[in-house]
Amino acid sequence: MNKYWPVPDWISTYSYKQNPRNFGSKRAGGRVHAGCDLYAPLGAPVLAIADGRVLESRDFYLGTFQVTIDHGALGVVRYGEVSPDDIPRTGAVVEAGQQIGKIGHLGRGLHPMLHIEHFSGTATGSVTNSNNPPYSRRSDLQDCTKLLDSLLCLRDKTCK
Ligand SMILES: [Zn+2]
Repeated sequence: MNKYWPVPDWISTYSYKQNPRNFGSKRAGGRVHAGCDLYAPLGAPVLAIADGRVLESRDFYLGTFQVTIDHGALGVVRYGEVSPDDIPRTGAVVEAGQQIGKIGHLGRGLHPMLHIEHFSGTATGSVTNSNNPPYSRRSDLQDCTKLLDSLLCLRDKTCK
């Protein structure tokens, strides 16, 4: 299976393992960060990490959009905080490495980023669940760090 690192222009000095970008970092109002943030220049391309099918393509946060893709054995990935233009529609089939969006504009002095969430795919329904604190996500939410680590070492040819 072909796999791709999702943000070729990722600014690697901003680790996705450090606060406030890491999975589980605290947010206002007792919320907890359900994803990992990959800082990148505004408008930089976002790629599908593998072949898949778009489950949901819609508005997300502070005027940005999100594309949620079923990647089969790799699980379900939400690509959040992308720009609304040039994103695939719900139901579209995507190929590994295909551009599925661009890094969106969040405003409020926030660095542009891809906010990425990972779900095992064992649950069904919307990946947002406001009745499931503290992440407010579906029950099969995973720690995105593992997925990103596995994709980054493939890119850098350093997998053990
Ligand atoms: Zn985030």
